[in-house]
Amino acid sequence: MTGTAIISLDCEGRWGVADHLTPEVASGLTDARLRQAYRDIIALLGRAEISATFAFVELFTRPASPETTRLVREYAEELPYLARAASGLAAGEEGWVGDWALDMAGRGQHEIAFHGATHVPWTDLSREQARREMELARPEHRQTMVFPRNEIAHLDVLAEFGCKAFRGARKYPSRAQSLLSEFDLAVPSQALPDRDVSRPAEIPSGVFINWMSGLRRLVPPAVTRRRARNLLADAARSGGVAHFWLHPENVATAPATLANLQAITEEIVRFRDAGTIRVETQLSALAD
Ligand SMILES: [Zn+2]
Repeated sequence: MTGTAIISLDCEGRWGVADHLTPEVASGLTDARLRQAYRDIIALLGRAEISATFAFVELFTRPASPETTRLVREYAEELPYLARAASGLAAGEEGWVGDWALDMAGRGQHEIAFHGATHVPWTDLSREQARREMELARPEHRQTMVFPRNEIAHLDVLAEFGCKAFRGARKYPSRAQSLLSEFDLAVPSQALPDRDVSRPAEIPSGVFINWMSGLRRLVPPAVTRRRARNLLADAARSGGVAHFWLHPENVATAPATLANLQAITEEIVRFRDAGTIRVETQLSALAD
C-alpha cells in the first residue's frame, strides 16, 4: 500500500497571538525573525522537493493600507480579539503585515490555503461573521482550511464558498497532556474520508511538529523523529495519512524548531524514495 504524507503550516505573523501578545511574545515575532523563519522553511522544503500547504491568515497577507487598518478597527468593536491588531496596525508595528510571506510561499509548488481572515476562532464567530471571513479571502486561497486554534465551526459556510476540506483537530484536555503526547510513539495514521462533494472533507489532523520552546524543549529531537517515523510507517502499511503541522512563527520564536522540521522531512523523503509514501498537499490529497 502507499500512504500519504502532508505538511501544513499555519501562517499568521502576530495575528495568531493577537489576544495575548505580551512584549516577550512580540520580541520573537519581529519582521526580521519572521522573514528568516519563512525563508528557512521554504528553502528546506525546496531542497527536499516537498510541496506543503501554507494556510495563511488573509489579513496577514495584505500590504499595509489605511483600508485594512480601518477594517480591523471596525471589526475590533465587535470582536475584542482584534483590539491589539487594530492598534498594532495603526502604529505601523512589525509582525502584522506579511505580504512578502505569501510571495515567498507562492513561488514554490505549494498550496496556499486559508487560516481565517483575522484568526479569530470560528467558534467565536456568528454565521454572518464567518461568511465575512470567507468573503475577504481570495477564492483560490480558500480551497482548503486550517481553523484558527483548531476550533472547528461553520462547516456549512465552508461548503457555501466551495471550500473542499479542512484539517481535523486532535484535542487534549490540558497543555500538560498535549506536551506528554509528544512522547507517544504510537500515533496511528488515519484514513482520508470518502469523497462527498456536498460537504468539506476532514483531513486527518496528524501531529504537531514539536516547538522547541518552554517545557517543550525537554522533548528530545530523537523522540520527535522516531514518532514521525512510526506514524509514516503506519500510514505506509495501512494506506493512511501522516499529517505534520507547524507554524513558521514557531521557528521565528524558537529557531531550534527548524531541526525538527528538517528531521521529519528526512523521514518523509526516506519513505517516498522507498515508494511507500506519496507526498501531497491538503488539496492534492483530495484528487483521485
Ligand atoms: Zn493559527
